[in-house]
Amino acid sequence: MTTAEITAILKTHGLKVTPQRVEIVRYLDTYRIHPTAQQIYEYVLAKVGNISFTTVYNTLHSLEKLGYVKKIALDESKVVYDFNVSDHGHFVCTVCGQIYDIDHNVRIENAPGRVLRSELIVYGICKDCLQYH
Ligand SMILES: [Zn+2]
Ligand SMILES: [Zn+2]
Repeated sequence: MTTAEITAILKTHGLKVTPQRVEIVRYLDTYRIHPTAQQIYEYVLAKVGNISFTTVYNTLHSLEKLGYVKKIALDESKVVYDFNVSDHGHFVCTVCGQIYDIDHNVRIENAPGRVLRSELIVYGICKDCLQYH
């Protein structure tokens, strides 16, 4: 995404356009690695400086509410952000920690009500780790 496109997204949704916010969105768009808020914070701090963790967190929260970002809780202590909001699952390598997007086709049976969303997280050992470890 160009800076103009990112600026447009922020403006459309009434978020103040700051270099820091632009870099948060650029990072999410460029590095589809399912980063943590801490990773995004470190990147933006190194790139433009002058940013607090709270700003990163609040911006992510706003983007999530607007549907631009998906928050995935891998476990109680690890929450990552995904700029790909299409329906997909995740494969987490328990050796290297990499998070891969996977396609899935889950059939939910006998839900006791209406399903609004579901999250599929599969844990395993990725190809690279199987090969080198
Ligand atoms: Zn791995
Ligand atoms: Zn993903």
